[in-house]
Amino acid sequence: STQPETVPAASLPLRPEIVGEEPYGAPQLDVPVQLNVNENPYPPSDAVVASVAAAVTEAARGLNRYPDREFRALRSALAVYLEREAGVTGLDADHLWAANGSNEVMLHLLQAFGGPGRTALSFAPTYSMYPEYARDTSTAWVAGRRAEDFTLDADHACELIARVRPSVVLLPSPNNPTGTALPLETVRRILDVARTSGPLDGTAGATDAADLPATSTVVVIDEAYAEFRREGTPSALTLLADNPHLAVTRTMSKAFGMAGARLGYLAAAPALVDALRIVRLPYHLSAVTQAVALAALAHTDELMGQVAGLRAERDALVDWFAEQGLDAVPSDANFVLFGRFADRDAVWTRLLELGVLIRQSGPDGWLRVSVGTPEETAAFKAALVEVLGA
Ligand code: PMP
Repeated sequence: STQPETVPAASLPLRPEIVGEEPYGAPQLDVPVQLNVNENPYPPSDAVVASVAAAVTEAARGLNRYPDREFRALRSALAVYLEREAGVTGLDADHLWAANGSNEVMLHLLQAFGGPGRTALSFAPTYSMYPEYARDTSTAWVAGRRAEDFTLDADHACELIARVRPSVVLLPSPNNPTGTALPLETVRRILDVARTSGPLDGTAGATDAADLPATSTVVVIDEAYAEFRREGTPSALTLLADNPHLAVTRTMSKAFGMAGARLGYLAAAPALVDALRIVRLPYHLSAVTQAVALAALAHTDELMGQVAGLRAERDALVDWFAEQGLDAVPSDANFVLFGRFADRDAVWTRLLELGVLIRQSGPDGWLRVSVGTPEETAAFKAALVEVLGA
C-alpha cells in the first residue's frame, strides 16, 4: 500500500462534517454470486460491445480536444428514450441533464439548490447517499419517517415539507432499500405543497418574513429503478409539464445494464436544467462517456430486453420468501428487502461464506438481495435455505 501507516489527522484542516467519516460503498468482494448493489446481471451482448468499442475508437481520435460541454446529442437521445419509456411528449435536449451517474446529477441539484442555511429532506429508511450529498454541500439534513410497511404517508410528508421549508426533497420511487414506489397521487400532493414551501430567502427589499416572496421546494423523484416498476405504477415524468419545480432522475446503471459506464440523467424544466449547468465542472462528461452512452442508447430494445424477465424473477422471489415464512417487502425494483432476522449480520456472513454476497441495508433485521440471473437466484435460495436450516 502507498498509504502512510498513521495519518496525522490533527494537522489536516478537515471539514468538521467529515472527521471520522468512512468512504461510502458496499464491500467489493470477489465471490461467485454478487447480489449486493442492484446491478443488471446480464453483460452487454457482443453486438452492443462492438458498437460501444467502435464509438470509443471514434472518440479516441479526438481525445486531444475537450469534449462537447453541452453534450446535446446525448441529451436529445435521452429525451427520445424517456418519451418512449414513460409515454410522455414534449421533452427535448433543453429538458435533459446528465452526469457521471445519477449520484453526480443529485450532487449537482444540491450544489445548485442546497447550501449553508438550507435544508434537504427525505423519509427514512431510504437511500443512504442522500445525507452525504447534503453533508458535502453544507446543506442541513432532515429525515421524516416512512410507515411501518415502508410506504410514505402523504399527510406526514406534506406537513413536514410545509414546516421545514426545505429547498430540496429527495424521493426515490421505487425506494432503495425497500423497493416501494410512490403512488402518483402522493407525488401530486407533495408537488402542490412544494410550490410554495421553499426557503424564505428572497432579499428584494423585504424587511420581515411576511414580505419574503414564496419560493418552491425542488422535488426530486429519483427513478433509478423505474424501468422495473410493476404494471400500473406510472412514472413521475407524466407530471413534468405542470411542475417547474420537479426533477425526475434516471440512470443507465440499472435496467440499462451499464453501471460501469457511469451515466445518470434527469428531466426537468429548462430553467431548472440551466441552474445545473452553472454548478457542473467544465467538461464533466468525458468524450468517452458520451460516446459509450450514445452507442448503448442505439441498442435500447436489446439492452432493455432483460427487464421483463428480471421483473418476473423479482415477483417470484417475493413469493418464495413468503413460502419460506419470511417477510418480503412488495417491490417495484430489481431487489427485494426481506427478513426479519434476530441477527442479520450472522445471516449475511454465513451467506458470504457460501459464496453469496448480499447487502445489509434498511432497518435492523432486514437484508436486501438484488435480482440476478435464474442461476444466481437459485444459488442464493439454496444458500439461504442452508443458513436458515442450520
Ligand atoms: N438512486 C438510488 C435510489 C440508487 O439506489 C442508486 C444506486 N445505488 C443511485 C441513485 C445512483 O446510481 P448511479 O449513480 O449509478 O446512477
